[in-house]
Amino acid sequence: MRITEVLAHPLSVTYAQPSWTAHEYIDRSQLILVEVRTDTGITGYGEIAGGPLPLICDLIAQFAPVIRGLDPLGHTEIWAKLFSLTSPRPGGLGGWDGMPAPLPRNHRPQIMAAIGGIDIALWDIKGKAANLPVFRLLGGTRTEVFTYATGGFYVEGAPLGAGADELAGFVAQGYRAVKLKTGALSLADEVTRIRAVREAIGPDVLFMLDMNAPYDVAGCIDFAKAVAPFDIHWLEEPLHWYLQPADYVRLAAASPIPLAHGEREWHRYTVRDFIDSGAIGFIQFDSTRAAGFTESLRIAHYAEQKGVSIAPHSAVHLHAHLVSAFGDTAFAAESIARPDFHPIQDAIYIGGPEVRNGMVHLPETPGFGMEIDWAAVERFRA
Ligand SMILES: [Mg+2]
Repeated sequence: MRITEVLAHPLSVTYAQPSWTAHEYIDRSQLILVEVRTDTGITGYGEIAGGPLPLICDLIAQFAPVIRGLDPLGHTEIWAKLFSLTSPRPGGLGGWDGMPAPLPRNHRPQIMAAIGGIDIALWDIKGKAANLPVFRLLGGTRTEVFTYATGGFYVEGAPLGAGADELAGFVAQGYRAVKLKTGALSLADEVTRIRAVREAIGPDVLFMLDMNAPYDVAGCIDFAKAVAPFDIHWLEEPLHWYLQPADYVRLAAASPIPLAHGEREWHRYTVRDFIDSGAIGFIQFDSTRAAGFTESLRIAHYAEQKGVSIAPHSAVHLHAHLVSAFGDTAFAAESIARPDFHPIQDAIYIGGPEVRNGMVHLPETPGFGMEIDWAAVERFRA
């Protein structure tokens, strides 16, 4: 089998209701659908969460001739070849060896996102070629995996109790674990929001906090102590973006709540250092943001060895396959449970995993299990 074509489809739609995390304004849903075609008629689909869309699509167009003609089942070779473009190589200056010149340093997040989307498509091809769903290729047998519901995004003018109502609604739908966006308001207001959620969901539901990097170490210790009475399962992305494993170690030593981290990381080397630090209990690497399923697998194996739970960030329809294959090492896949949050995925994918009663139900269809509604793709094309 050979790769014949690699295409990127940039998709975007504006939300009726914009919202905020502690850091970012969210006024649109965007994704890049990656299509890898082969000479056997099998086509694989990957998904990228990232931007700017034109830059990532341009990188995929640059990568297409690099991997055209290669065996798509050789995912580690292809991954290594694309990743090698991010560094100098002997004879590579100026692209004089026939490969693209070393890629610009200031495009690294987009480069890693582009590699990720292609890699996910290769795993879809692998499953389709083997006539197996990805979770079975990985040795998984569980067709139902645990998921939790994320909500509580900030909406201008909404009351402090809005997140409690929303998360209680998720529990009523059958979720046994929920996650609240936090970190944007004063400590007193956040305690009010968090107390309201715990009162609304009752004592038996797991309750996580997604902070989106609002604190330095001292500020986060104060926060952790203030919210610990509400039985919090993890503090996610607690520290400012520039703080590193050593800072997480200081936080973990003083925090009564376990830490979760990883969605911002681009590759296994920084994740290794967070895991080795002993500070984090949950690793949340996101295949669709960076480096793909191949890198997620490497990270999952390392985390398993080190006693860190896998809790992949977002993209439940893809990451549920990983969770299935990692047994008790995996905590859960993440569902962003706001019904309006994934209008593109809801429209363009036919089939695939379904979330019901707080569990992801994985179908036996090959690959990631989804086919594409191309009319819907055209409706969202950016
Ligand atoms: Mg998060």
